[in-house]
Amino acid sequence: MNLLQFIQEFPDENACLQKFKEERDKIGIVCKRCNCKDHYWLANKSSYECKKCHSRTSLRSGTVMENSKLPFRYWLITIHLLTSTRKSFSTEELRRQLGHKRYQPIWEMVCKLREVMGKRDDKYKLAGQIELDDAFFTSEVPEDQKDKPLKRGRGSQSKTKVLVMCESTPRDTPKKGRKDKKAGHLKMKVIPDLNSGTITSVVKERVDGDSDLTTDDSTSYVELEQLVNSHTSQVVKPEEVEKVLPWVHTAISNVKRLLLDVHHNKLKPEYLQYYLNEFCYKFNRRFFPDKLFDRLVIAAVSYSPDFKSKIYNRSYCG
Ligand SMILES: [Zn+2]
Repeated sequence: MNLLQFIQEFPDENACLQKFKEERDKIGIVCKRCNCKDHYWLANKSSYECKKCHSRTSLRSGTVMENSKLPFRYWLITIHLLTSTRKSFSTEELRRQLGHKRYQPIWEMVCKLREVMGKRDDKYKLAGQIELDDAFFTSEVPEDQKDKPLKRGRGSQSKTKVLVMCESTPRDTPKKGRKDKKAGHLKMKVIPDLNSGTITSVVKERVDGDSDLTTDDSTSYVELEQLVNSHTSQVVKPEEVEKVLPWVHTAISNVKRLLLDVHHNKLKPEYLQYYLNEFCYKFNRRFFPDKLFDRLVIAAVSYSPDFKSKIYNRSYCG
């Protein structure tokens, strides 16, 4: 959907509310008190009323908008902006585009949308041939480390560890200027450490047992062969990366560039996952960009957020 189509289809608050209701009706409402599925719609209250026990469920409850007071239109405009670009928007840019005064509610709204993207992608496991590697992302130094001396290199407190996994199948007929492998779905997960146990449990949850894994040679990966059909680990020299692990490395460098360009790397480690969710969500749906808007509206209506609001100085939040 382009900007003109968006304005035409969603000219006001009511049109946006109707879009949410339409998608919510397709999923169906279940009464929290008596499990009844039949409801009246109370237009003046934007709520459903159970036909049996008359308890009410607001249109927002059980969706990403639960506990939000922002207009429906803000949500749809933000969904449109996020899904209409391969890049992204900083919260400050969205706040200005929406003409809203306060930063915090807009930041929370975008975090919740990014959380929903992650929840949607968590429904699927990776399968087939998979590349796996870990990466280090620049982030703010955690509060409890701020008065300690900064370590250098990979163990630095300003680096957050991420496990990156991508389906990657050799092409039948290699194409000039293209990678020898074709990418499928991508996952990126923030991890607290590189211990073998940590990596193994992340992989177990997200990778199908019939998969064939390719990684570099690291003690963090020693237990992975028990989880999958096969595990090939080898020492990967820098010049061989493009051949052995082409897609994880392309994905890592693209998302790092995005985080630097849009968010200036000013991210708290506990929020990095939200930004990775958005990158992976769009990567995984890159072949149908025109459907992204509708897909994200459906996801937004289907999941309620676990996001816990915290107030930060705006320069930290991205
Ligand atoms: Zn009921």
